[in-house]
Parts: sequence; structure tokens; C-alpha cells
Amino acid sequence: MTAPQHRTPEPMWNAWGTASEADPLPEHLRALLTDALGVPRRDTPSVPRDQVRIRESALPDVARASIQDAVGAEHLHTDEHTRLLHTGGKSTPDLLRRRSGDADEAPDAVVRPGGHEEVELVLRACARHRVAVIAFGGGTSVVGGVSPDRSALPVVVALDLARLDRLLELDTESGTATLQAGLRGPEAERLLRERGFTLGHFPQSFEYASIGGFAATRSSGQASAGYGRFDDMVLDLRVATPRGTIHPGRAPASAAGPDLRQLFLGSEGAFGVVTEVTVRVRPAPVETRHEAWSFPDFATGAAALRQLARTGSLPTVARLSDETETGLNLASSEVGESAPSGGCLAVTTYEGTAEHVEARHAEIAELLRAAGGSSLGAEPADSWDRGRFHAPYLRDALLDVNTLAETLETATTWSNLDRTYQAVHGALTEALGEQGTPPLVMCHVSHIYPTGASLYFTVACARAADPVAQWQHAKRAAGDAIASVGATITHHHAVGSDHRDWMVEEVGELGLDVLRAVKETVDPEGVLNPGKLLPPK
Ligand SMILES: Cc1cc2nc3c(=O)[nH]c(=O)nc-3n(C[C@H](O)[C@H](O)[C@H](O)COP(=O)(O)OP(=O)(O)OC[C@H]3O[C@@H](n4cnc5c(N)ncnc54)[C@H](O)[C@@H]3O)c2cc1C
Repeated sequence: MTAPQHRTPEPMWNAWGTASEADPLPEHLRALLTDALGVPRRDTPSVPRDQVRIRESALPDVARASIQDAVGAEHLHTDEHTRLLHTGGKSTPDLLRRRSGDADEAPDAVVRPGGHEEVELVLRACARHRVAVIAFGGGTSVVGGVSPDRSALPVVVALDLARLDRLLELDTESGTATLQAGLRGPEAERLLRERGFTLGHFPQSFEYASIGGFAATRSSGQASAGYGRFDDMVLDLRVATPRGTIHPGRAPASAAGPDLRQLFLGSEGAFGVVTEVTVRVRPAPVETRHEAWSFPDFATGAAALRQLARTGSLPTVARLSDETETGLNLASSEVGESAPSGGCLAVTTYEGTAEHVEARHAEIAELLRAAGGSSLGAEPADSWDRGRFHAPYLRDALLDVNTLAETLETATTWSNLDRTYQAVHGALTEALGEQGTPPLVMCHVSHIYPTGASLYFTVACARAADPVAQWQHAKRAAGDAIASVGATITHHHAVGSDHRDWMVEEVGELGLDVLRAVKETVDPEGVLNPGKLLPPK
């Protein structure tokens, strides 16, 4: 068993990263906000920590005693600071609420079990005392996944899996690794790289998100074209439920009935707590190559990516920005002056052995050129690579200067892609425009498949008097637009509380009944992350 050498630093309660990483918005971007978006120049800083309202812990003594028996008194925390750090996730509304001083939904306690058996004991104790349990990995949910919902049960504990931080096994012959659920992205990757392997899972939230969280949300990373989505990588899971343990996978493929792993992948802590994940790993790349491309417009670029996905010869990363995102990326990057104006930027990267990189690059470059692309060389793609985890820090800086910035995503088939793009773009523009000056709405194709792709939208605009309500209004309009064109309500952010109202469109009433039946079987007391994934009946 191998422990990580580095611990993830504690993120701030009101921002994405740590205090030392906070970076004010550069003056030229601040000027751009005022000139292009009409954002009035006003500072909108977070309230200081001592002005934050946090509810008192209401954990009953009997429940406290049972949980302490399971994990030891030193691993049950009811102090305000620890509870504040577990109050919700990292969506813009989550941050806005806490920045305004509202952390009233804080859990009543934070529990840090040391292993699978302790998780099971905590779940049994919580079921016995009717205490809700929110599995808490990195706390990077952007859909309300780790926000306490007290409508069914008034007392809530956050089950923080940070102590489950080991690489348990690496089978180099099969190319599989068993990782504990609380390992964060960087530690998991470091442990594998030291042994010559990579997981290849790099979501933008990589720095803080956890292995268990990836599984529980069916996460997808920036290198999904080359390595696949996280759920594609999973061979087995160990899941604790209040009724016992489930181990649903035993082979790389099986015909032994429906695949039970799929019930727990994406179950968002509502069906059980994932404590271990066995994943397929790949040899660490020997070579990496980047190349950016310009396409005359978004439709031509999307058609080129469609052809790539169909041939099956894919780069490791393939993403395409629309005209607006391209303009902004180039304007704010170091390559701005040398880049062509107009058009749409695509980024490709290749990882693998030198021969494999070269062969794939040659084949794909030819295809992209034939599909209307012009190579921009490596630099714009290098620039993207250097800044690939930077956007959440930029959002913190934008929230400080009177700006609302948020993202949402969907996926659909290639034949429905443009319709979906237009519908969501239109809905966001209209809904945010009704409340102030016209917003900036940008989009990129973030993940590609033979049959379709994911669209990832980013918005920025002047914030209204109530920015949480402002975003909720736009989010509802966008969600309804997504449902109206038959796209999925979420490609990789999961359901949480924010998307559950659209689950009936997604899976139908009968589908929901099947999911509810599973929940009732594994969690008859309803203590596992209440209010998430499933809409109320
Ligand atoms: C800035 C930013 C960028 C992001 N970029 C991406 C991206 O590129 N791709 C992507 O897929 N997502 C992205 N996300 C969303 C988020 O990071 C993912 O959903 C991630 O997988 C969550 O992992 P986590 O460990 O932080 O989970 P948490 O936020 O702690 O939990 C998420 C959900 O999973 C449940 N859960 C967590 N751990 C377990 C467990 N061990 N067992 C059972 N349930 C569990 C929780 O109860 C909750 O419902 C982004 C989020 C932010 C804030």
C-alpha cells in the first residue's frame, strides 16, 4: 500500500484555490469588461470570514457517540471552520452565497473515516439515527451535489473521504490500478507516474477533485478523446451502503446480466459511498505534441472533428472554440498578435510513444487540412495547455469585480449539434440580457464521440443586484432549451440538485421508478445524500 507524498493544500472557503494562488484581474481585462460588456467598475469582494453566518451544529449526542465509535473522536469535527469548508461545492452560486456571508446550510458535522469498514459503520450509524450523509470528495461539485438538503432529514453530516488516500494495488501486467476514493487527481497521477503509468484523467477541476468523485459523477477529462471518460476506465468499484458492501465488477468485460457498475457510476452518493475504484491505466506518455488549427467557422470545425471521431484515429485532446471564445482566448493569450483574426480555434494534443504520436499526428493533420483547417503550429495549443487549469482562478477574480461568470454543458448527436448550440446560446443570451447589458456567451466542443459531441458554454456579464437569482433564471432557460431539443441535461457535471428537475425528460417516469427502487433497496432509511439525483415523487 502506498501513501501519497504530497497533500492537497486546503482550498479557500470562498474561492477555487488557496489564498496564495489568488490573482487579481489584470487591468486590460478589467477595461475589456467595462468597454465590451458594460460592466460598471465596482469592487464586489467577499465578506471577511468573521462575518459568515454558519448554523450551529445540531448533531444529537446519541448519533455523535455512534459515529465516534466508528471513526474515533478525533475524526468527527463540529467546529465552524471545518464545517464551513464542507458547505456546498464550487459552482458560481455556491461561491456567491458564501462570499455574501451565507453558509447557513453548513453540515452539522464532518466525519473523516479511515477505511472502507469505517465508512460502512458510519453509514449504519447514520441510518440508525436518521442522519443524512453526504459523501464529500474534493467538494468541486458545480450542481449542488455536496450541498446539504434538509427537506427530508434535518441533521446532515459530510463524510469527507480525504483519509482514503492510498494506491492499493498496481497490476502492471493487466494495466489496472486500485485507488482509494479520497485520492485527489494530482496525487493519484503522481503515484501512477512514479511507476510508469498514467490515468489520463484531467478535468479542469483536476487539482482538487477526487477519484471517488470522478466515479460518482461520471466525470470527463480534457484528454477524453485519447483516454476516454472516467466511467470508461472503471473495472471495479467497492461501494459501502447502509445495508452492506457491493463489489460490482470482476472482469474487463462480462455478460453476467446488466452491468451493476453502471448503477453506481454517476450515483452521486445517493446509492452508496465509493471507497475504492479499480481503473484501467496506460503507460505514461513518452512524447507529447501540440498543434492548433484554425477553421473558417464553428460548423466547419465541428464537421472536421466529426470526421476525426468517425475514423477512430483521435488525438489525445480535441477541442474547438466557437468564434466568440476564439476571439477572447486569442486576445487574452500570448499568441494574440500573431494569430489570425476571425475563425475558430481548435486545439489538438497527442500523447504516447514517439512513433504513435508521429503516425497519428500525420494522419489527423491531413484529415483536418482536407476538412478546411489551417495549422497554426504549436504555440496556441501550448498556450492552452499552460492555462488549462486556470479558468477557475480567473472566475474568482471576475467575481471580485462585479461580474457574473458561470458555465454549463450538454451533449447531443452530430446531427443535432447546431440546433442545440443555437437553442442554448439563444436562451442564455436572452435570459441574461433581460436583466442587464447583453452577456458574453462562448462555447466550445469539449468531448467528441463517433455519434456526437459535448458543448460547453461559458457566460460573463455584469452582475445584477441578486446574482444568484440572475444565474438561476438563465440556467433554467438553458436547461429548458436543452430539454426542448432532446440533448442531455448534463454530459459530465452530473445531476446533483440543480439538474434533478430535468431527470424526468432524461430517463422518463418509469426510468425514475427504477432508480428509486435501487435507492430504496440499498438505502431504505433514505440517508444517502437526500435531495440529489432523483426529483421528489
Ligand atoms: C472549476 C471547475 C471545473 C470543472 N471541470 C470539470 C471537468 O472538466 N470535467 C468534469 O467531469 N467535471 C468538472 N467539474 C465538476 C466536478 O469537478 C466533477 O463533478 C468531479 O468529478 C467532482 O469530484 P469531487 O471529488 O470534487 O466530488 P464532490 O464535489 O466532493 O462530490 C460530487 C458528487 O459525488 C458524490 N461523491 C463524492 N465522492 C464520492 C464517493 N467516494 N462515493 C460516492 N459519492 C461520492 C458527492 O456526494 C456529490 O454528489 C468542474 C468543477 C469545477 C468547480
